[in-house]
Amino acid sequence: MAKAPPMRWPKRIRIGYRTLRVRFVNPSSAALDGRNGSQCLGSQKTQPGEMWVATGQDREEEANTVLHEVIHAVLKNAAHDGFEGEERIVGAITAGLCQSMQDDPQLWRAMRQVIRLSKKAGREIEVR
Ligand SMILES: [Zn+2]
Repeated sequence: MAKAPPMRWPKRIRIGYRTLRVRFVNPSSAALDGRNGSQCLGSQKTQPGEMWVATGQDREEEANTVLHEVIHAVLKNAAHDGFEGEERIVGAITAGLCQSMQDDPQLWRAMRQVIRLSKKAGREIEVR
């Protein structure tokens, strides 16, 4: 079977008022050092606005890592930075969304269509 081409992730992503530069780095990079000496697959700092993702992950792991970091950024944007249990909550949301996107692509196409139409009509998605 032919190997799938590498994913093309955007070089910059916008989350709320912030723009994060997406950088792929060696898994042993210091940018991926965890809090307790562990090595992470993804990491970010809103200052200076960078998100790091370990190279060498398979496609699904890479997608999971990118989404995981996006969810962290969403929480940071909402001023919920580093609350107790954040890793577990972000992990659960990420796994659930990835599974849903895999199993129910029609749901996500419909969601995207609604968001596009709302944006076209000049309406923002309400943050509750
Ligand atoms: Zn995390």
